Amino acid sequence: MPSYAIIHTVKRLNFTLDDETIELLNRIAEQYYHGNKSLAVRAAVESLATHLGHEGWVIAGFVPVEVDSDSECHTCHRHFAPGETLYRPVFRKGRASKALQYLPREQWLECSDCAQTLVSE
Ligand SMILES: [Zn+2]
Repeated sequence: MPSYAIIHTVKRLNFTLDDETIELLNRIAEQYYHGNKSLAVRAAVESLATHLGHEGWVIAGFVPVEVDSDSECHTCHRHFAPGETLYRPVFRKGRASKALQYLPREQWLECSDCAQTLVSE
């Protein structure tokens, strides 16, 4: 396997932080990044980006639906018979790591267990 040298371009940025944030940054840098504050800030920004996710369609809630044919849960694929209640997601625009780029076209029903898990995520 050939080896590659990864060269990151670095730039000096100026920004202002309050005393408390500076103290916190120093502490995190000391504890986890051998005192390297740049690495600590980089990790913090990457972590924030993951947390914020990307713009798209996110589940805002669910509407109960009494199914009139054999159906299965979108997430756990459990089978449900006609007359049982499943939950149809309602979407809104938002940011999340699991945000969808397009509204789903397929039939999407969740069982109550999976619906509750999805909403609490
Ligand atoms: Zn399920």
